[in-house]
Amino acid sequence: MLSSSYYQKKSWFFLAKILKHNLRVCRSISCNAIATDFTDKNSNIRDFNFSVHTTNFLHENVRLSEADTNMYGNLLQECVKMKRLLDGKILHSHMIESGFEPDIFVYNNLINMYARCGSILDARQVFDRMAERSVVTWNAMITGYVQSGYGVEAWKVFREMRKESNADLRETNHTITSLLKACSVMDDVEMGRQVHGVVVKSGIELNVFARSAMVDMYAKCGRVDDARQVFDKMAEQNVVLWTAMIAGYVQCGQGEEALNIFADMLKEGVNVNQFTFSSAFGACAIEGGLEQGKQVHAMLVKSDSELDVFVLSALVDMYAKCENMEDACRVFDRTDKRSEVLWTAMITGYAQNGLDQEALQLFEEMLWVGMKPNNFTFANALRACASLVALELGRQVHSHVIKSGYELNLFPASTLVDMYAKCGNIEDALEVFEAMPKRNVVSWNAMITGCAQHGLGKEALKFFEQMKQEGTDPDHITFVGVLSACSHAGLVEQGRKYFDSMGSNYGIEVRQEHYVCMVDLLARAGLLDEAEHFINSIALPSDPLIWRTLLSACRIYSNIELGIRAAKNLLHLEPYNASTYVLLSNMYASLGKWDDRAHVSSMMEKMRIGKDPGSSWIIVQNKVHTFVVGDISHPQTDEIYANMESLAGKMKEAGYVAETNSVLHDMEEENKEYSVGHHSEKLAIVFGLMSSSPGTPIRVFKNLRVCADCHKATKFISKLVEREIIVRDANRFHHFKEGLCSCGDYW
Ligand code: ZN
Ligand code: ZN
Repeated sequence: MLSSSYYQKKSWFFLAKILKHNLRVCRSISCNAIATDFTDKNSNIRDFNFSVHTTNFLHENVRLSEADTNMYGNLLQECVKMKRLLDGKILHSHMIESGFEPDIFVYNNLINMYARCGSILDARQVFDRMAERSVVTWNAMITGYVQSGYGVEAWKVFREMRKESNADLRETNHTITSLLKACSVMDDVEMGRQVHGVVVKSGIELNVFARSAMVDMYAKCGRVDDARQVFDKMAEQNVVLWTAMIAGYVQCGQGEEALNIFADMLKEGVNVNQFTFSSAFGACAIEGGLEQGKQVHAMLVKSDSELDVFVLSALVDMYAKCENMEDACRVFDRTDKRSEVLWTAMITGYAQNGLDQEALQLFEEMLWVGMKPNNFTFANALRACASLVALELGRQVHSHVIKSGYELNLFPASTLVDMYAKCGNIEDALEVFEAMPKRNVVSWNAMITGCAQHGLGKEALKFFEQMKQEGTDPDHITFVGVLSACSHAGLVEQGRKYFDSMGSNYGIEVRQEHYVCMVDLLARAGLLDEAEHFINSIALPSDPLIWRTLLSACRIYSNIELGIRAAKNLLHLEPYNASTYVLLSNMYASLGKWDDRAHVSSMMEKMRIGKDPGSSWIIVQNKVHTFVVGDISHPQTDEIYANMESLAGKMKEAGYVAETNSVLHDMEEENKEYSVGHHSEKLAIVFGLMSSSPGTPIRVFKNLRVCADCHKATKFISKLVEREIIVRDANRFHHFKEGLCSCGDYW
């Protein structure tokens, strides 16, 4: 026989040749030995064209009498390892051609091969033709169905099995584990209970894997109390079971319970493994329990165990969810096991904590070190671009998505549509959307909401109709897009109809965000009283945005009485929100009611409420430049203010007069003008004009609503400098062009 090290280096191709030479003298028994040896040593050979050589080898060398059970068995197992359905089929046909009569062992292997290589129908055909079946046969069929995602079929086969009169045919731990997994996947707790009932009736002694599968099944189906009962009833609880219970609590969002049981486990002196640590970190992440998280981390370090990538990602994820990116970073920096999963956890962490620039920087680093991003990495990078409104960076991420071949995948494609829309580039959003070969509700929503945000109400509704025609069911997010589209396009009647149809036609529960849209729709159209009636008809208006929407409409329509009612209601819901006081104060100011305004200011002072600092930013050559009102921190401050002065002069000549109603403080006219003149968005716009070539559009972003003066000024600027200026404020996009804004002066 040839030495095993010899085989290790050689491909199956050479092995087949060697077999050819040796087979003349080999009896079937040694042929099997070689095949067995080969399967042990060379299971990682993938490049070899197995099909051609297997068949050649079999046809040329293996005479009927020589082929036997072990050889077929080994080769079929090899097909499973290498996931080669075609070769499995060739082996099967060779059996039939050569008249070989498989015994139950080969049949079981055939079922297993077909099921695991993705052809469950063939597996079933083999199964149906068998005259005699063992427990292994039934298990192979049940597991095959479970793994292929056919839980109900698995359950049917199991019931058939129990009907068989053969007394030896009893379900094994393997059967039970497979069935429980199917119940978890299908979220079918009723079937799970039936499996549980079978276990109780038959008195089968469950091993630890079957028991954890049962705990896991109940937890995944959201019945964590049942999971706990199963857990408590067990005489002996080993680490796998404890971990399943902790993970179960984490899955159901009960972080505290999970940590309690983790503490119990430690008290019992059970040896904790990597999965336990991962679940414990998951629990701390839910609770935002940074201190506990740090303690578990210290234990992990003390345990001196080799850290795998999953425990590392759980650790990074825990720190990120506890808003401690410093420690997350430390974990990341200190390990040399930076897999794509860990990079992605880190990037996601930054994005979740609003550190979008850091997220993108890390994404670039990841590419630079040659790591391949996965769908989640791309989605998070694109989300960071969207919230930074970094169109150029978004485009770069897009090109990486294309390079990686993910373009056709639904998930990143939908985030791409969303990114382009949020970055104010609806054309590119549309282009990506139309190139998608398949669309799901997420992609439609991205497109519909994108259009609505850009004031393209009619287009949004067109997409909605198209979506229904193509057979995609809308969800609650779709209706947020549809209703706000109606609102922006002033389609009051149509909006009402869509709102009424939600429950009756689509079975979608009306949520607070839909009420907000309706209030906006009515208020925007000037139907303020109806909007107030509408709010009063809602059982529990708990979203402050409902009142805030009405309040800002009152300001625009100068309906001060209703505005005050709205503001008071709003202050009940969120007494500490500065913007309510500011809006109320603005309304008093616009009517010159300085006493009432002073009262609001003193209330704010009493409650120690500061205004949200307004800031605006613009991205120039991949760098974010942020400005606050009267900012003098920018290195090009002098130039910015000089440009601002000359622009202001030209604007005055063109007929611009400052709007000063939106200024909070009761100042002298000239001071007011000075202050609004240096609002953050104006500084960002002037800087944008300075640092980009003539004719190109500029994009500016503001964390608050654009004030009336900046809105007016930007209209003038767009005409004077002949530029398209796109401003995204806290609510929507404003496309300023040739002296007009896409919002029609309502925002
Ligand atoms: Zn302003
Ligand atoms: Zn506007």
